[in-house]
This record gives sequence, structure tokens and C-alpha cells, in this order.
Amino acid sequence: MKAAPAAQKRLLDLAELDSVIDRLAHRRRTLPELAEIDELAARVARLATQVIAAETEAGDLAREQVKAESDVDSVRIRAERDQKRLDSGQVSSPKDLASLQSEIVSLTRRQSDLEEVVLEIMERREAADGQVAKLAAERDELAAARGAAEDRRDAAFVEIDKENAEAKGRRAGIVGDIPADLLALYEKLREQSGVGAAMLQGGRCLGCRTSLSIADLNRIKAAPHDEVVRCEECRRILVRTPESGL
Ligand SMILES: [Zn+2]
Repeated sequence: MKAAPAAQKRLLDLAELDSVIDRLAHRRRTLPELAEIDELAARVARLATQVIAAETEAGDLAREQVKAESDVDSVRIRAERDQKRLDSGQVSSPKDLASLQSEIVSLTRRQSDLEEVVLEIMERREAADGQVAKLAAERDELAAARGAAEDRRDAAFVEIDKENAEAKGRRAGIVGDIPADLLALYEKLREQSGVGAAMLQGGRCLGCRTSLSIADLNRIKAAPHDEVVRCEECRRILVRTPESGL
């Protein structure tokens, strides 16, 4: 393949810009914020599940408390009703009186037991409500941290995308200076190895860092200036410059 030496040199500008573009793409893919956001999102999701479980437990206890309080009420109402009957003086038989009094004693004891149950449920409920509040606060804190990391990621993306657009704009200007067949070869090599062209500097290919043999150097030296030469080692296009050591 033949190409004017000036067009070949433009390949080096193109390769430099392509490496800038590659670095930007790599930076965009590997921003530390991305891993941070994933980790925070997973923790927020775990906490959200824990909050739901704690809320369910607190809700169950709230219903248990309502039921226990209603048990207390019904026992209290029965005791009050018995007490009224006793106070009204309508019950005169000693046997009935004794039975009524004994029922009142037993209802009072029962009410006191049930009130203990209510207190015990209230304590558990308080602990459950506290757990809900603690987990929800932790979840909100992590969600805020995730939001902040997302903001930092977006700001970095804006910066990277701006640099990328600039590099692509400059690239478009360079591509116009390179003949189509040479550009196609460059793109093909770039696809294969990441870099399409490298400078020959001091007898070394800067693409693969290999020092060329005397025979290869002599062959390149003998080749016409517009001949497109390749590195025998990495197959990249070797661009000759005054620093090539030929
Ligand atoms: Zn090479």
C-alpha cells in the first residue's frame, strides 16, 4: 500500500486521539461512583426489606394491643355490672351474694392479669416502633448517599462526554487528511489490537516496544517514502519520522 508520508504521519495524530478516546471510555466505564452506587443500592434494598418486616411486626403488635385492651374492657364491664348488682341490694340470698362476690374477686384478678398482658405488648411494640424508625433512618441516610454518588457520577459523565466530543471533533478533522484505504487498514488493525499505527523511533516500534532487527530496519530504509510499512512483530503500521533511526 502507498500513502504520502504526510498522510502516514497523520496516523500518529489519529492514534494519539484514539488513545484519548479509549481512555475516556475506560474512565466512564470504571468510575468509582458506579461501584459505590451499586453497593449503596443493594444496601438500600436490603434495608427496605428489613423496614417492611419491622413495620409488619409493629403492625401485628398494634393489633394485638387493641385486642388485649378490648379483653380488659369486657372483663372490667362485667365486674362493674356485678358490682352494681351487689350495690343495688337486689340480691338478697346469701348464696347468690357469696357467688357474686367471688365472681367480682375473680374478675378483678383476671383484669389485672390482662392489664399485665397489655403492658407487655406495649413494651414490645415500643421496641418494634423504635426498630422501624432506626432502620428507616439508616435506609434514608444510605439513599441520600446513593443520590450524592449519582450526582457525582453524572457530573463526571458530563465532563467525560465533553472531552470525548472535543476529541471526536478533532478526530473528524484528522480523518479528512488520510486516504480511505490507509484509514481502513488503520481501523482494521485498531479493531484487532487496539492501536492501528505506531511510530518507529530509534529503531523500535512504539506499538509493541520491540527493537527491529538490522535486516528489518534495512528493508524499511530501502522502502520508498510513500510505502506503508508494517511492524513484523505486531503488524501495526509503522510510521517513519526523522527520529526513526534509519
Ligand atoms: Zn510493533
